[in-house]
Amino acid sequence: MIDSVRIGSITYPVSETAEPIIVDNAVCYGAIDYVKPLIQINANCGAHKPATLMHEIMHGIVNEYRIEDVPAGDEKAIDLIAKGILNVLIDNPRLIEQVTNYKVSKQQV
Ligand SMILES: [Zn+2]
Repeated sequence: MIDSVRIGSITYPVSETAEPIIVDNAVCYGAIDYVKPLIQINANCGAHKPATLMHEIMHGIVNEYRIEDVPAGDEKAIDLIAKGILNVLIDNPRLIEQVTNYKVSKQQV
């Protein structure tokens, strides 16, 4: 798994843990800590790892860009956006290469 993810101005180390990840009294496949910063993924969640990582990245994007229409705590909205983006990436394996080859600056995005 990737060892860090840059989201806006913040680089989040990504760590896998065999320990249960508990958020709001619920056991989760992953979690994001905006303060440390850190993304944790349950090492035992198998095929759920990519979707879990994308889910935590979406939390980070919503938090970083202060997207008020999608509250960072709206798990259903975060999950649907994450699954949608992950499916687009899976269905279009050359997409990242093509997007990064445009050499646009972040200010143009
Ligand atoms: Zn979540």
